[in-house]
Amino acid sequence: MERIYNFSAGPAVLPREVLEQARDEMVNWQGCGMSVMEMSHRGKEDMGIQTQAEADLRELMGIPANYKVLFLQGGASSQFAMVPMNLLRGKASADYLNTGEWSKKAIKEAKKYGTVNVIASSEDKNFSYAPTQDAWKLDPNAAYVHYTPNETIGGVEIFWTPETGDVPLVADMSSTILSRPMDVSKFGLIYAGAQKNIGPAGVTVVIVREDLIGQAMTGTPAMFDYKIHADNESMYNTPPTYGIYTAGLVFKLLKAKGGLAAMEKTNREKAGLLYDYLDSTGFYNSPVAKENRSLMNVPFTLKDAALDEEFLKGAKARGLLQLKGHRSVGGMRASIYNAMPVEGVRLLVEYMQEFEAKHG
Ligand SMILES: *Cc1c(COP(=O)(O)O)cnc(C)c1O
Repeated sequence: MERIYNFSAGPAVLPREVLEQARDEMVNWQGCGMSVMEMSHRGKEDMGIQTQAEADLRELMGIPANYKVLFLQGGASSQFAMVPMNLLRGKASADYLNTGEWSKKAIKEAKKYGTVNVIASSEDKNFSYAPTQDAWKLDPNAAYVHYTPNETIGGVEIFWTPETGDVPLVADMSSTILSRPMDVSKFGLIYAGAQKNIGPAGVTVVIVREDLIGQAMTGTPAMFDYKIHADNESMYNTPPTYGIYTAGLVFKLLKAKGGLAAMEKTNREKAGLLYDYLDSTGFYNSPVAKENRSLMNVPFTLKDAALDEEFLKGAKARGLLQLKGHRSVGGMRASIYNAMPVEGVRLLVEYMQEFEAKHG
């Protein structure tokens, strides 16, 4: 069977070129006689793979030299705890923006370790927008400010970078990292689970400014201490070697394709196809405020929810899969990460038009 178009929110579509290269190298990596999966993480081959992946990520994102890049495990969900454990640094509280389901989870976890001030929330309108910075009640003494630049479930993206002065800015970039250029120097810490835009599930990327680590709270497990991972170059324990290798192939491919500016251009084109059509019809509806419409996750509803099942069935018949919206939102969601080809989005819009013509 030919490949389908996979609109899953995560684990998500990977570039075909990467899967094919991984296949070609699966049994015998570059003539060394073994698979990357079988290599010692302390051997020169695997260390070379990890060093190269880090170098390529640094180049792609323009990561300044005073930032550590860590390849960890435990997903973005572990970062919900690691961030407060490491960054509270004896301070009384941290500021959190609440823009949806992932923000809420981060807030809930952080409350176990300190006081959380919710500086603004869009819960009043069912998380369909992001409060602008003039509405944030920032505390100048906060240990850090945490926000979610792209809410994967609600499809709400923040395209501007908050100004937090001397208070470090922390971002859960799980579903927006590598989708467009970002000025890393504006952030104290960035984290992202790999399975949206980086590679297979199992790797978590953390980018952290050096001066923020080394002050973890008493009782922090070694595995949850950024300093320990940084001092050991992400090899304190066995890192997720195959996931790092695959992520490295993705980084190489993005570089060859023109880097993050090129990604942004294609991503705007893809999202534009969908949003333009959604705006042109009353048959479908986009629930998100225009200025916050995500480039990566596009939720939409059908005017008549009774047609949802049939819509999904017809989509599947055309090889357009994983379009069902998150259970907390309903309707549909098309996740169109870097690796989703423009053609996949074109076919989706074409199908939506035909479905409307038949049922509208
Ligand atoms: C997917 C996702 C998470 C959870 O990631 P895990 O790796 O499953 O822990 C957290 N935050 C955001 C924004 C996500 O998209």
